[in-house]
Amino acid sequence: MDVEGIYKEAEALLEGHFILSSGNHSNRYLQSAKVLEDPKRATLLAQALAEMIRKSGIKVDTVCAPALGGILAGYELARALGVRSIFVERKEGSMELRRGFEVSKGEKVIICEDIITTGGSAMEASTIIESLGADVVAFASLANRGFCQREGSDISPKKECKLPTNKPLFALDDFTFEMFTPEECPLCKEGSQAIKPGSRNA
Ligand code: ZN
Repeated sequence: MDVEGIYKEAEALLEGHFILSSGNHSNRYLQSAKVLEDPKRATLLAQALAEMIRKSGIKVDTVCAPALGGILAGYELARALGVRSIFVERKEGSMELRRGFEVSKGEKVIICEDIITTGGSAMEASTIIESLGADVVAFASLANRGFCQREGSDISPKKECKLPTNKPLFALDDFTFEMFTPEECPLCKEGSQAIKPGSRNA
């Protein structure tokens, strides 16, 4: 599956001059919600992810996503795996399981995001799910920004990765971007203006 091609086609992989959330500049940006805009495409991606998880032999009872970004990817993955879909959400700073969702003791949960950057939100979701007695067996995301190591990739994890090393991360592809501090950014040196993605023109 040409995952990068699918992201480009969906205008989810942008090329230009961007300010990342870290403050660094890059010539690429992943607008990951855009790839889920078309439900058919979302289903296709989630089915490929589900296939990787099935092949690993890991058994999953429930997919849990951190809101808001992970909900669509989590729901589609749950549909593809034929299991339950729940989400945790941030309330006054910390993640909570709300809206009547429950997990039971020993229930096998996979935490799913649309994109894993450092895995901070996924890890918070994992902590709350495990505090309620369920077992987080793995992590999943459609895209991996290359800070954490996904199954089947030889890109080694970076120090920024917050996911545990003893649980697998399933993702369709690595999206590693060249990043520069604003002072060292070659695009800035050429005189171009960096834009914040998510703003009107990005
Ligand atoms: Zn720049």
